[in-house]
Amino acid sequence: MKYCPECEAEYLEGVEVCADCEVALIPEEEFLLRKSSQERQREFLTGKQFVSVKLAESVFEAERVKGALEQEGIPVVVRTFQDTAFDGLYVAQKGWGNVEVPESDRARAERIVKELGEVFPEPVEADSDAGEAGDEGGSGQGGEEEP
Ligand SMILES: [Zn+2]
Repeated sequence: MKYCPECEAEYLEGVEVCADCEVALIPEEEFLLRKSSQERQREFLTGKQFVSVKLAESVFEAERVKGALEQEGIPVVVRTFQDTAFDGLYVAQKGWGNVEVPESDRARAERIVKELGEVFPEPVEADSDAGEAGDEGGSGQGGEEEP
């Protein structure tokens, strides 16, 4: 049995070209292989049942996580907030984007993300915009004089 890769019609042995599409037929094994990989791909692209396993703070972090997950054979979709939000206006939003994997790979992915976080600990942000500079230490000693 042979198949048309375009319209997926079945043909008997001996036929080499699809009568409708005029493309070369392919053997059954190859057809099934293609079909399953196409379905995988389609599922991947439509993003159904993808869940976020990591809120990335930057494109670099997202790429790092993505690389690690893909190495384990997990399909990864990175959705950056900036795709939609960043069009001239700065939108203050936490993080850079989500790293998402299929629901079925979630547990494995979360473990990998966790391990990754231990190898590359996230930098602790010294968020020191509270208080003015130069006001250190001497706050207890009275500078104020009351008449
Ligand atoms: Zn065809």
